[in-house]
Amino acid sequence: MSIRGRLLALAIGGVLPLLIVGLTVLGIVWNDKQNQLNEGLEQQAELAGVIFDRWLDAQYQPLQTIASYSPDHLKDKSALEENLKAALIHRAHWIDLRVLDASGKVVAIYPAGAESLPVSVADKLLSEMRRGVQDVETDWVRGEGRYLLAIAVPVEGAGAVVARIDGGALKEPFRGMSLPDRAVITLIDQRHRVVYRSQTPESTIGLDLTDSSMLSTLKSQNTTVVVVKSSIDGVERVYGLGRVGKTGYIVMVGIPSAILYASAWRQLMGYAVVGLIVVFCTMTGALLIARSIARPVRLLNFAAEEFGGGNFSARAPTEGKDEMSRLGMNFNAMAERLQKREARFAELDRLKSEFVSTVSHELRTPLTTIKALTRLLMREGLEETKRREYIETISVECDRQIDFVLNLLDLSRIEGGVLRVTHERVEVDEVISSVIKSETRSAEKRRHELRVEPQPDVPPVCADPKELRRVLSNIVENAIKYTPDGGRIILSAHEEDSQVAISVTDNGRGIPAEDMPILFDKFHRGRPAPHSAALAEGTTNAEFLEDADVSGVGLGLYLARNVMERMGGRISVDSEVGRGSTFKLHLPLWSDGGCNKPE
Ligand code: ADP
Repeated sequence: MSIRGRLLALAIGGVLPLLIVGLTVLGIVWNDKQNQLNEGLEQQAELAGVIFDRWLDAQYQPLQTIASYSPDHLKDKSALEENLKAALIHRAHWIDLRVLDASGKVVAIYPAGAESLPVSVADKLLSEMRRGVQDVETDWVRGEGRYLLAIAVPVEGAGAVVARIDGGALKEPFRGMSLPDRAVITLIDQRHRVVYRSQTPESTIGLDLTDSSMLSTLKSQNTTVVVVKSSIDGVERVYGLGRVGKTGYIVMVGIPSAILYASAWRQLMGYAVVGLIVVFCTMTGALLIARSIARPVRLLNFAAEEFGGGNFSARAPTEGKDEMSRLGMNFNAMAERLQKREARFAELDRLKSEFVSTVSHELRTPLTTIKALTRLLMREGLEETKRREYIETISVECDRQIDFVLNLLDLSRIEGGVLRVTHERVEVDEVISSVIKSETRSAEKRRHELRVEPQPDVPPVCADPKELRRVLSNIVENAIKYTPDGGRIILSAHEEDSQVAISVTDNGRGIPAEDMPILFDKFHRGRPAPHSAALAEGTTNAEFLEDADVSGVGLGLYLARNVMERMGGRISVDSEVGRGSTFKLHLPLWSDGGCNKPE
């Protein structure tokens, strides 16, 4: 799995439990809220029941007053009717008032022509009276839409005082209850018929709810809550149901569920939206982090592939200051070093090929000369002077060959770590004179002035005389080679910092500053400086290279440095392009005790 995939899996792994916990918490909060609201609704239903019960109590009071009259008074019809009239006259919704004896016969009635009680209502009331409890029954004698409430209070001797009240009076007690829009209060009698419903058409009065699922949920409890879609107006409501005292009536307070749960729902939605925003932010954050890690890794990988494929300029991104950018920087630093090394290897390869062809050339040219001269020497009648000249040339060329081969041998010794030098007392002026002697011919060929500066009392040094001579010859040969014709080469020696420095100064082309660090490297061969004195005098690079004897293999200075170090000395150079160079060979002094050999 990719880093990006893993980070995403990590983010999802972190977010998913959060989501589950969040949803569970939201569910719990929602349930709590619903329970609180439902409890509130049950309390509302209870309150409505209490209101209705109190109203009934107030209706019973005048009946109780009449029932408390003495039996004699209760038998006095005319006096009783006066009392009934007095009780009825102030109660607008009361229809009629009567006193019944134990058999249900009317003892007194007001108003005089009032309808008689339906038998079922009278029987029910009288049976309750026999048990000595006051009762309320619904009298549907006027038809379904309009009903009367028949309330009765027992009198001594099992009779009853009965009043009938217009059902419209029920609007009064519930008027004080403030309910939200489209909420309803419904009152149901013992036979489960609607006797009151706020905000409702008359037609619903008398509706039989016996088969309604609402009532069955109440069972034996006093209160309950049920969610039902109303068959009357089609609104889904949450109904709080409550029994009204011992009357057998049930009061229902119904509030549209959309209104009841609206605020809780809004709150919940608020939590859900905040939760979703958090999840979204977390996922976005995880994606961004994944991108910020995966992208540099991808680019780094790409750079590594490119680099491995040979594109050495491929580099990793290094934006930012985090671990990834540091990794990129380290990769780039490594790539930089490898690129340089690769370039150096390529350069060494080039130098080696050049070296092989130069060596072949260096060997072939003098051998061809020697062969040609030998042929000439074999001719009969050759002048004696010519013969001498040829033999001398052959000897010089042989010396050059020997030097060249010795250089190659030294190279292999240095490479194999077996270069041996002696440490002996060496007189510096002797070495200098010997080198001047051997190089004078070549210097003359180039019309150079080659001379030694007076050198008073130069002390002897500790060195290998043969090797020192070869190193100095090499330096002088270079001065001859790299100085345009007619130049000046001066050798001198003096004591310097408890050592002896042999210097070779020329007024040749000089060495460019950028070549200085690699001047003593194996196979290094410099190019003529573009503004060298030779060029300034009107000679082109090509002409200079062609005219001057600049043959070589780039080994002289490498060998010189190694040999000098072996002898306990060192070589230094000071040069300026177009003005010339000074090479110095620093050597330890000879003391009577011998040489301090290097480690
Ligand atoms: P070679 O002479 O065979 O090229 P060396 O190792 O002797 O090899 O010299 C290395 C390079 O140093 C030369 O190719 C040349 O560019 C530079 N060099 C050495 N001596 C001088 C000098 N006296 N003046 C200018 N350049 C020099």
